[in-house]
Amino acid sequence: MRNVELARCFRDLAAYLEMEDVPFKPRAYEKAALAIESYDRPLAEVYRDGGAKALRAIPGIGASMADKLEELIKTGKCALREQYHARMPVELATLTAIEGIGPKAVKVLYEKLAVRTVEDLEAAVRAGKVRSLPHFGERSEQKMLKALAFLRTTGGRQPLAVTLPIVEQIAAALARLPGVERVAVAGSVRRRKETIGDADLLVVARKGDAVVQAFVTLPQVERVLGQGRTKSSVKLAGGLQVDLRVVPAESFGAALCYFTGSKSHNVALRQLAIKQRLKLNEYGLFRGARRLAGRTEEEIYARLGLAYVPPELREDQGEIEAARSGALPQLIEPGALRGDLQTQTDWTDGADSMEAMAREAKRLGLEYIAITDHTQGLTMTGGSDETKLRKQMAEIDGLNARLGGIRVLRGAEVNIDKDGMLDIDDETLAALDVVGIAVHSHFDLPRAEMTRRIVRAMRNPNADILFHPTGRKIQKREAYDVDMDAIIATARETGTVLELDAYPDRLDLKDEHVRKAVQAGVPIVIDSDAHSVKHLAFPRQYGVDQARRGWATAADVLNTRPGDAFLAALKGGRQAAAGSRNRRARNRARTPRS
Ligand SMILES: [Zn+2]
Repeated sequence: MRNVELARCFRDLAAYLEMEDVPFKPRAYEKAALAIESYDRPLAEVYRDGGAKALRAIPGIGASMADKLEELIKTGKCALREQYHARMPVELATLTAIEGIGPKAVKVLYEKLAVRTVEDLEAAVRAGKVRSLPHFGERSEQKMLKALAFLRTTGGRQPLAVTLPIVEQIAAALARLPGVERVAVAGSVRRRKETIGDADLLVVARKGDAVVQAFVTLPQVERVLGQGRTKSSVKLAGGLQVDLRVVPAESFGAALCYFTGSKSHNVALRQLAIKQRLKLNEYGLFRGARRLAGRTEEEIYARLGLAYVPPELREDQGEIEAARSGALPQLIEPGALRGDLQTQTDWTDGADSMEAMAREAKRLGLEYIAITDHTQGLTMTGGSDETKLRKQMAEIDGLNARLGGIRVLRGAEVNIDKDGMLDIDDETLAALDVVGIAVHSHFDLPRAEMTRRIVRAMRNPNADILFHPTGRKIQKREAYDVDMDAIIATARETGTVLELDAYPDRLDLKDEHVRKAVQAGVPIVIDSDAHSVKHLAFPRQYGVDQARRGWATAADVLNTRPGDAFLAALKGGRQAAAGSRNRRARNRARTPRS
């Protein structure tokens, strides 16, 4: 059994335990699932080498959990889970993936309406049967309809974070074949779109048919949709379609440009060529029959009188104009990030300790990391109140005294309540180095009310960063209805920083919002929203790509600055740690009545 499957089983157990109202245990199992999923080595291997004792040594895994892991690894089954499943044979994973449906709802839906699958649920909702259940009503029926419809619209596309590793793996396999000179990923994967419909690969090779033959027999391939001498389309086990083309070296750049797209960028390029009495296609840039360019993308752009346009900008959103006038931005690079401002630890719903997170951040080459556990409003995470936060701050001070080479900032992810108030008092907030504020509830407020709520929270002089500003989860939950122009205008006025949350299913801000913020001169930060040490890589893996799609330069991203400069740039100029104690006085003078 792979770690993801073991984690899935623990998540199921957490859900079943929650249905039974067992206290504490569900959260412990959730956390264990997170720890298992993000563990570096396959647990089956850990067990083989070190037995049950080695399993128990994994942080977050208690003795009875280790027993269950042992059972799963040995038999492929967990008796407790089987028992639960026999009593309630529902598709837990798919049902609870629907926004607004938790384990308790699954239980009621099964017991009262025999709902086992998403299809059953949809039928029950359409028949108007759900509204009559206790705790459901017509409103939740409507919400479910919306969630089910949203689920359908996203069908067929996969998040970049799912697709990218698979495509890179295939590209690497092709690159190892004898006679292969070049391999490139093209299409929307190369443009780093947040979801991917299908993937495109280009290859330069001496013998095309041999490459095609090797491609269709890769272990990931489930079905061959088409196969010729120089091209092929396949469907992978996960459902992704991958198209391969073998192209001659002298056309490689032209083909790469053509198959990278976007379509509208290509149309604009071709029109530009026509104006210069040239012809651009996937084989090259031609005057009559003479090929002027084609070997590299760079020479094509240059012959068209353009600066090289990075793939992330190729959406016909003004990049061609900018490339002609020398106004293309110098996009941020992954290595520019120096800090991470949103991380959760085992103080709330994270899997790892503050120290483990800090050490991993240091290993990744970061200079500072803010610990931002949830606050009390988010009860299911065991969120902090003022006392717990103070205790955590003291521990962070101790950590800083002990650790070298990484600075740990005292932070929190503070809940914005329905009315825009924060659930931690101002005095405690003022003592923190970094205050992130975030919406985690009442997602369905009308636009004006939602906007007013967030604006009000941003006006709190202690609020430094608005975390995951639109609340969307890719393919899972639509953004809440909020006026982002008003949020950006408020950020500009109050100095509140906007976050680009790089957690792969969030990527919140969206590219268009990043661009608007950049245009308005509102700085952003790119954070991991890490709930385990594994997640700390997200900003460089996915966040920077998203920021680049939003035309962001390193200067637009505040956490490219060294720690002191970063803190000084926050609202009220939180200085180095010592300075933060003086903020209270400053804030008191500035606190508006809002
Ligand atoms: Zn959050």
